[in-house]
Amino acid sequence: MERSFHDEIEALKLGSGETFHGEGILAVTKALLQSGVTYVGGYQGSPISHLLDVMVQAKDYLEELGVHVEACTNESSAAAMLAASIMYPVRGAVTWKSVVGTNVASDALSNLASPGVMGGALIVVGEDYGEGASVIQERTHAFALKSALWLMDPRPNLPSIVRMTEKAFELSEASNTPVMMELRIRTCHVRGSFATKDNIAPAISGRHLQQQPAGFSYDRLSHPPATFRHEKLKYEVRMPAARKFIEDEGLNEFFEGRHDDVGLIVQGGLYNTTIRALQQAGLADGVGNTSVPMMVLNVVYPLVPAQLERFCAGKRAVLVIEEGQPEFIEQDIATLLRRADLQTRLHGKDLLAMGGEYTAEIILKGLTAFLGEHLPALDLSAGHGFGRELAEVRAQAAAELGGMVPPRPPNFCTGCPERPVFAALKLVERDIGKLHISTDIGCHSFATFEPFSFGNSILGYGMSMASSAAVKNFSAKRPVAIMGDGGFWHNGLLSGVSSALLNKGDGVLVIMKNGYTSATGTQETMSTPASEAKRVAEGSSATADEMTIENTLRGMGVKWLKTVHNYRVSKVRDVLKDAIESPFKGLKVVIAEGECQLERQRRIKPIVARRLKAGLRSVRTRYGVDEDTCTGDHSCIRLSGCPTLTVKASTDPLKREPVAHVTNGCVGCGLCGEVADAAVLCPSFHKIEIVTHPNLWDRFTDRLNRFFIGLLQPA
Ligand code: SF4
Ligand code: SF4
Repeated sequence: MERSFHDEIEALKLGSGETFHGEGILAVTKALLQSGVTYVGGYQGSPISHLLDVMVQAKDYLEELGVHVEACTNESSAAAMLAASIMYPVRGAVTWKSVVGTNVASDALSNLASPGVMGGALIVVGEDYGEGASVIQERTHAFALKSALWLMDPRPNLPSIVRMTEKAFELSEASNTPVMMELRIRTCHVRGSFATKDNIAPAISGRHLQQQPAGFSYDRLSHPPATFRHEKLKYEVRMPAARKFIEDEGLNEFFEGRHDDVGLIVQGGLYNTTIRALQQAGLADGVGNTSVPMMVLNVVYPLVPAQLERFCAGKRAVLVIEEGQPEFIEQDIATLLRRADLQTRLHGKDLLAMGGEYTAEIILKGLTAFLGEHLPALDLSAGHGFGRELAEVRAQAAAELGGMVPPRPPNFCTGCPERPVFAALKLVERDIGKLHISTDIGCHSFATFEPFSFGNSILGYGMSMASSAAVKNFSAKRPVAIMGDGGFWHNGLLSGVSSALLNKGDGVLVIMKNGYTSATGTQETMSTPASEAKRVAEGSSATADEMTIENTLRGMGVKWLKTVHNYRVSKVRDVLKDAIESPFKGLKVVIAEGECQLERQRRIKPIVARRLKAGLRSVRTRYGVDEDTCTGDHSCIRLSGCPTLTVKASTDPLKREPVAHVTNGCVGCGLCGEVADAAVLCPSFHKIEIVTHPNLWDRFTDRLNRFFIGLLQPA
């Protein structure tokens, strides 16, 4: 990864008496060190990538403390790391994106939750739910319930987040249970400050070794008959211990308000949005003092019956503000109220949306309906007015923009090496007809959008090959599975390739080898040796003993394997066609090689800047379109989708259509020229070399060119 986290690492070193300023997710990272963790692991993914990325770059400092950091190959291996806390009094934390990462980790999580832990074990999950999410919409809560893992959902402000992180370890140790902490996108990115404490060097660590392994204890294995006892322990010992700790330590918070015959029960992560909604209704002030009492659940599982009974007793009605479906918390509260024989009316999903993100607007709607029913004398005109104001702004925007704003889906970066592969695939389809494409998770999934619109299924990270296993048996034309190198090492190697080889599957797999796990922030993979970028740039091959995807596949027995350079579109088209139509029966793998352009640009930027500063010759390549020959049919745009290949009005009054135009953002990847050639488009594209600090030869050839061009120009 070319990005530097120098400032973040310095923030991790702050000690007692200092103040941290920054994002929520970095505050969690700092809190882990203040809690004396022995080990940290995880698999990156939005919105928690920052935690692991910073930790990995901070390795030198963490070694001083004796903290081990592991960038795991998937969430399953991260969850399994927590086994260290089963038999040793060591604290550990792992992190990943949920719900997808929790799905991958769930086998290890079940086997961890059963015996429970001795040292504090914390799982920090990025709850990728709602408007900014990039995955399926499900809740982590279900995993907490089924495995009896405690689930925290801290109020999104830095002091609360830090306190909950530190308390999570204590809760875990007090109840011998791993704790999950869900952090929504907004919680991870909320900014603020908190008073820091000194980091704690763990008592058992790489610096202070445990001299003897833990003794044998069958009771600590998730194996029958021990598992029968574990189940009893979960509900008879661990849960009561957890409830006692939550109550004694005041992990849930209560805010009083003058309208105390009603109340709100809020997931901690939704506190800020709820306060915003109350403010709009004139029921909270600018610093968050509310006039409607609130119970804020910083721990959403387990709930503490005694706390809920106290909060609800004497109230006419309560509203549960719980995002996503099903309504786990509401159902839990309904049972608790019934058992306690409390007649408090319970509202929740009857007044609020069942699914989707709870914005202030949505909460306000439910809130005004709730208060309108139970406090009819309350003036709610401010709340209704805010709703009307929003509707008017929307109507005005729609009128001014002439209807709905067209969607702007995400796209490959300018010059991305994956774009040419899909341009080539389009050309293949032009020749042999439509194909079944199994897509995957990664940057290449941008090809599901215009102008490519490829993809018949997405079944999970590294799952494309496996998801074409059945389809290929009833398809007249071989389906194509697309996978990134990140997905290959995460899961695809075993669930796809090994399964296809075992079953002698006759499929086609295209692996996008860009050198990094780009979609999650360009983290390194098994096949990212330090020299990889340089080697790809030079077009040279790996040696036989290097850990490469090619060597791995050959070692597994893949016989049909071809590597292509992505930007050579005609060649990529021919190899893809060959794989789809080859008489060879068995797995055919095409490795599409080209360094992630985002990383390449980050890598070369300082080099170019240094050269320019030193007055050295530097050449920048970009492409252009000759306006005179462009017909304005836009076939090049339909085959590329590059953000810098756009349109502009023609200066020729006889041309009614806008002509193609390359903006100054072009990084000169060469795809335009390649596509124009491979698809036999038109001669409008030209390559431009911008030379800074030209040498004598550059100056001479420039003069010569100008002279001859001058001769050909009319006088
Ligand atoms: S991050 Fe890299 S691989 Fe992903 S779209 Fe950008 S250039 Fe392509
Ligand atoms: S050469 Fe074409 S595809 Fe490549 S960056 Fe420039 S405009 Fe985009």
